[in-house]
Amino acid sequence: LKEIKSSEEAIKLEDKHGAHNYHPLPAVLSKGEGVHVWDVEGNKYYDFLSAYSAVNQGHCHPRIIEALSQQAAKLTLTSRAFHNDVLGPFEEYATKYFGFDKLLPMNTGAEAVETAIKLARKWAYETKGVKETEAQIVVCENNFHGRTTTIISFSNDEGARKNFGPYTPGFLKIPYDDVDALEKVLEENDNIAGFLVEPIQGEAGVYVPSEGYLERTKALCKKHNVLFIADEVQTGIARTGKLLAVDHENVKPDVLILGKAISGGVYPVSAVLADDKVMNVIKPGQHGSTFGGNPLACAVAHAALEVIRDEKLAENAEELGGLFRRLLDDFIRTSNIVNEVRGKGLLNAILINDSPESTTAWDICVALKNNGLLAKPTHGNIIRFAPPLVMNEEQLRDCVDIITNTLKQFEK
Ligand code: PMP
Repeated sequence: LKEIKSSEEAIKLEDKHGAHNYHPLPAVLSKGEGVHVWDVEGNKYYDFLSAYSAVNQGHCHPRIIEALSQQAAKLTLTSRAFHNDVLGPFEEYATKYFGFDKLLPMNTGAEAVETAIKLARKWAYETKGVKETEAQIVVCENNFHGRTTTIISFSNDEGARKNFGPYTPGFLKIPYDDVDALEKVLEENDNIAGFLVEPIQGEAGVYVPSEGYLERTKALCKKHNVLFIADEVQTGIARTGKLLAVDHENVKPDVLILGKAISGGVYPVSAVLADDKVMNVIKPGQHGSTFGGNPLACAVAHAALEVIRDEKLAENAEELGGLFRRLLDDFIRTSNIVNEVRGKGLLNAILINDSPESTTAWDICVALKNNGLLAKPTHGNIIRFAPPLVMNEEQLRDCVDIITNTLKQFEK
């Protein structure tokens, strides 16, 4: 491949030869280690996004890279036409780790969500006698679950959805963080297969629901014999200060969706976990993917999960997350540029005091970049902060200094 000598050159190439389906901040990264990344010019940054919460274990974690290279030299892909000697041990490890009977391996978050939707529909058909054409899944307003045709069918994001129809039917949308709305919809419909929910809405701008929301909605699902399906693609794997965000309320989902950090961002891996009574409705030949469950993915995910546990990253996220919000709360008391700091563990966001249509949040992120920290706005006036969980206190305090000093430049 052509050697890239400047960020400008790389951006021009992407612009000319790549589809324009993203709007990245103008940082061209060429190296990562732990909580840091470097651009082509050699500038060093704190990564404060972690590839949307995928790189929880830090960039190029040596244990994960070691697992990757050892397995890559041995066997990478068999497809599921044959067995491989890594999938079974990984499934044993991961099902014990998360406390479920069975795991179905996929590659991306959206694929795992699709898998969970299919699983819930088939479960409703087989165990509740819901007609195949009538099964419904309850979803929440402002959800984000991926970008496939079916998933965008129940998105509120007009940019993601508009003119991509016709849309897949079978979804009922209710407001997020509204237990009564779920109760009503479950009482009025007898064809509901599942309730698909993000324990914290990440892409929407880090909305943490009221305490008790997950526990109460899970209880309603149980009462109405509906599957509680937790999409923990962004919130899972220690990000919010517990292994899973549902652990904050001691809720065990009927179906758990994982992606992103299950592999530490080293290789695309996702998974759906459920107990036998649910997972067993899927039979040979009914679902799969060429790469799902490949030996490389399993070896990488196994190492990535070990790192989470061995390095106590959930505990670190809880501790540093609390400190981060305390420090920023102190700052906003004296500042007129940020209205709110919210989040859990190391999944946080600030709300900029400006309209969503303004470019202030974008300009702040460009200034943060110039000051050595990478973050990205979401929905106009929200900036999400999600650093790798291997950060230490000194680094976090350093980052808070960068953030507050940058924000001060934008005070009115
Ligand atoms: N679910 C949630 C909650 C997510 O945040 C995302 C990605 N941001 C996805 C699903 C989709 O994952 P992927 O991009 O790997 O398809």
